[in-house]
Amino acid sequence: MNNPHRIVVLGAGYTGMLAAVRLARRTRKLDVAITLVNPSARFTERLRMHQIAAGQELADHRIPELLAGTGVEFVQGWATSIDTAGRQVLVDCTTAMHYDTLVYALGSSTDTDTVPGAADHAWTLNDPRAAHRFSERLAVVEADGGNVAVCGGGLTGIEAAAEIAENHPGLTVTLVSGSEPGAMMGDKARAYLNRTLDRLGVAREIGQAVTKVLPDAVELANGDVVPTDLILWTTGVRVSPLAAQAGIETDARGLIVVDSTLHSVSHPNIHAIGDAAAVRQAWGQIHGTCQSGLPTAAHTADTIARELRGKKAKPFRFGYVHQPVSLGRKDAVIQFTKANDTAGRFHLAGRAAVMYKEAVSSSPVPTFRMSTKMTMSVQLSKGGKATRATA
Ligand SMILES: Cc1cc2nc3c(=O)[nH]c(=O)nc-3n(C[C@H](O)[C@H](O)[C@H](O)COP(=O)(O)OP(=O)(O)OC[C@H]3O[C@@H](n4cnc5c(N)ncnc54)[C@H](O)[C@@H]3O)c2cc1C
Repeated sequence: MNNPHRIVVLGAGYTGMLAAVRLARRTRKLDVAITLVNPSARFTERLRMHQIAAGQELADHRIPELLAGTGVEFVQGWATSIDTAGRQVLVDCTTAMHYDTLVYALGSSTDTDTVPGAADHAWTLNDPRAAHRFSERLAVVEADGGNVAVCGGGLTGIEAAAEIAENHPGLTVTLVSGSEPGAMMGDKARAYLNRTLDRLGVAREIGQAVTKVLPDAVELANGDVVPTDLILWTTGVRVSPLAAQAGIETDARGLIVVDSTLHSVSHPNIHAIGDAAAVRQAWGQIHGTCQSGLPTAAHTADTIARELRGKKAKPFRFGYVHQPVSLGRKDAVIQFTKANDTAGRFHLAGRAAVMYKEAVSSSPVPTFRMSTKMTMSVQLSKGGKATRATA
């Protein structure tokens, strides 16, 4: 390779990993060099972060091992800035990496900046090491017969509260949420969810948003104070400021605004995927999930390979299929959805739902492995129709 086309993929989460291995497969007869940048050499299974927080050990998937045989170079480090004019990424403030094409897959994390005290006094599921330390604190609090407040009644908060309650029967677990847990589900799935939370002994403090996090309590919008020994924060989303700092067009939340083929509208040699991309479909904007992220990664890998062969990119189409929610290791509920992620008529609960959810959570790693050998289909549904995004 004298002067290969250099593709840099930033972030080796679900979408960056899939984009890198699929790109390698799709471009194996072309003169390309692919580099994947990620701060950790261990692949983080974000879908299982609540299991770590509850004290479970996960499989140790190493990124270099997952990339074996693909020719993708792995660089361990943080992307610290992007120079779009010079087409360079700086890694760890020191190493400059040139790119011809950039895939931006930096994901998202839970926002602890908006509510005062959250950053200082609450734990999050943002980082596996912190989630592990949280699990150690949980064990200590349980030994004292204490309690934990899980703030946020979205799917992550529900999964975390249920997992902790199942693993730590000596703890009092309270789910604190401004809205009803499972509000996005249909009546039957939501009723099942609530019955299971009751069975697991998860108390609920519903209807008032948390306005302040204190060292030993959370304060609610109506002034009530909920005392607690430990706080897990699962609500609100933030993304890396890197794109906005580099002058790449982003929306109000910092997500890269992309066109119908997932190219940045301001910098067409940059592709944004997963939680870091503002992707619009005819039915509305995609919200960050693995379910939607993996198809964006597959589509982008295929787009880059097409364009390197002189072909036109195709529009991205996606529609949601399900809201899979684990309720500990022995129970789960799956709400099947319309393309816009509103509840459909059917749901699955109990043992069948446990198996379904486990299949969802465990499928990405085998998909990466298989994608090194063949082009896998990862699109569950093409129910949506792509439109050009607006900021
Ligand atoms: C507990 C929990 C349960 C969930 N359950 C579901 C579910 O059941 N179904 C579902 O569809 N979704 C679920 N999600 C959401 C899902 O995990 C995300 O939508 C998905 O991880 C997004 O993938 P991504 O590749 O965009 O980002 P991520 O998986 O977050 O990966 C981003 C990667 O970029 C790296 N990175 C960040 N900054 C930098 C930098 N500056 N330089 C280099 N690398 C960087 C990160 O370390 C990470 O490896 C869940 C999330 C949580 C927390």
